[in-house]
Amino acid sequence: MKIKNNIILAMDLTDPSEALRVTGQVIDYIDTVKIGYPLVLSAGMGCIQEFKEELQCKVIADFKVADIPETNEKICNITFEHGADAIIVHGFTGPDSIKACMDAANKKGGEIFLLVDMSHPGSGKFIGRVSEEMARLGVQLGVENYVAPATKPESLMGIRRIVGEGAFIISPGVGFQGGEATETLKFANAIIVGRTIYLSKNPRKTIEELIKILGDVHQTG
Ligand code: C5P
Repeated sequence: MKIKNNIILAMDLTDPSEALRVTGQVIDYIDTVKIGYPLVLSAGMGCIQEFKEELQCKVIADFKVADIPETNEKICNITFEHGADAIIVHGFTGPDSIKACMDAANKKGGEIFLLVDMSHPGSGKFIGRVSEEMARLGVQLGVENYVAPATKPESLMGIRRIVGEGAFIISPGVGFQGGEATETLKFANAIIVGRTIYLSKNPRKTIEELIKILGDVHQTG
């Protein structure tokens, strides 16, 4: 997946028209929006298609799919049928559950992102302990895309080492959760940014500043 400016907007506002309005303010600068339960549970699945049509963007459905294979398959099928380009899937459920999502994605022409660690403090208790094992499983299964946290650079770095340079990593936790954008992009292909942009008084200015910081870093190598 190619992502403009290496930034994905996590749009977790729950008012559908606000969500569209705020995303519209920054859409010149991004081409990929992550939509999850906060918006879909209030607006309905139709919001995926609405975003795609009104804003001409790709949509990653952050449904953190974590069920038995048969149920995972249904969840993925429905999500792709509603227009999602990709879906985020938990790794901890094991190979058969992940494989069911991969098969659904292949059939529907979509992609999966395998979530192997999370960005919040409590993630150290369980999921963070087995994230490298999950990344290794992803590699064995042929998963190409991963989600790994910006708040834990050592974890992100370790996951990159395992999945290799050819894999595509997207990384949430920049800004509000404390992750640092330029540091994260040393190991991730794109950062996921939510509240820093959508709660900003001036989302457009905030994303312009972020792009400038990232651009400066690229120029100075
Ligand atoms: O508002 P903020 O920038 O913290 O948004 C981060 C987004 O990434 C939220 O939608 C959150 O649910 C999601 N996410 C995360 N950590 C993960 C996976 C997804 O923060 N490991």
